Amino acid sequence: MSTHPNTVSVNDRTYNWPTAPVVIVCIDGSEPDYIEQAIAGGHMPFLAKAIQGGADLRAHCVVPSFTNPNNLSIVTGRPPAVHGISGNFFLDPDSGNEVMMNDPKFLRVDTIFKAFHDQGAKIAIVTAKDKLRSLLGHGLDCSSGRAVCFSSEKADQTSLAGNGIENAQAMVGREIPSVYSAELSEFIFDAGVKLMDSMRPDIMYLSTTDYIQHKHAPGTPVANQFYAMMDSYFVQLDAMGATLALTADHGMNSKFNAEGAPDVIYLQEVLDDMLGAEKGRVILPITDPYVVHHGALGSFATAYLSEDTNADEVASKLRAMPGIEAVYDRAEGCRVFELPEDRLGDLIVVSTKNKVIGTSSDRHDLSQLKEPLRSHGGVSEQTVPLIVTKPVKDLPTGGQFRNFDIFNIALNHVA
Ligand SMILES: [Zn+2]
Repeated sequence: MSTHPNTVSVNDRTYNWPTAPVVIVCIDGSEPDYIEQAIAGGHMPFLAKAIQGGADLRAHCVVPSFTNPNNLSIVTGRPPAVHGISGNFFLDPDSGNEVMMNDPKFLRVDTIFKAFHDQGAKIAIVTAKDKLRSLLGHGLDCSSGRAVCFSSEKADQTSLAGNGIENAQAMVGREIPSVYSAELSEFIFDAGVKLMDSMRPDIMYLSTTDYIQHKHAPGTPVANQFYAMMDSYFVQLDAMGATLALTADHGMNSKFNAEGAPDVIYLQEVLDDMLGAEKGRVILPITDPYVVHHGALGSFATAYLSEDTNADEVASKLRAMPGIEAVYDRAEGCRVFELPEDRLGDLIVVSTKNKVIGTSSDRHDLSQLKEPLRSHGGVSEQTVPLIVTKPVKDLPTGGQFRNFDIFNIALNHVA
């Protein structure tokens, strides 16, 4: 038997060593309504029963309510002001280029996984898209035999040295699914059950993709089927003795107008009209290479303004626009949302529940949006589930739960 400490501290939080495997699931884009309606419709029989004895809480995610900032908040236990991942995409002040935030060089702290792994814990991480894998697995020594980290997207390209497993696809025994499919997420849960059996990790993290949630509203047949699929794996993980804790990186809302077209504020066009060309530069942190389901349209933007521009005046004018929920200057927005000031623009702009913010109409290809737009990014998508399948005790009181409290609750507050 290996020896290990009773607790592990990382990023100013302390976690108990798990006495049974803990499986943290980040259900991408899981607006609380999805699980509520799936349970009400009888599609999640395991979870319906489990939450009666466990915890069925709601939490706030990080704004911008996007995938990367929230996944990294969950796995570090801290907001982006601490870990540095403020979007899927940002304007790198060092290079002046707009770049993806997938590179671990942008991550400023260790993950909870690394802290436990360094003390001898076995860690398994399976995510849908490869864009998150290197951030989530950063610092893990996969050649140790105690860490597995791969994406279903690239499960056919894994190696022992890089992912802790040779040919993960063969272990799962499924075709590599399309990156735009429900199967990409099912692959994760199938892998999770097989890894629980073969490796029995101390901590497992499963992070899905929101492809279904972008297309299908809560309670619709396809959404219910997706949640029923997850429930069928939750029951298996539970039967293997795992404690399951579920949350989401962000919610999801409809973002279309009466005609069914995306309800967009093209902020770059607004600023160009207001200030003249080249005075403002809009960055959309939702941007990623997988735009088919959201057209790079979300409810959060940041704007860089030229030095001779009066930012307060621009902010006031934007606040007066219909569909704009809030406009902050950099310092105030970063204080409110706990974001790193060096990675946001002069203004932070959030749109209302059913509106999205784009750059200019010619820069968004909406031809591939087959269903009316559903998206996220704003404060309106901040409420997410926080569910534990085992009884909990001594929960912190008096504050708002955050999705990045989930390791604390799963490791420190399960009875
Ligand atoms: Zn997401």
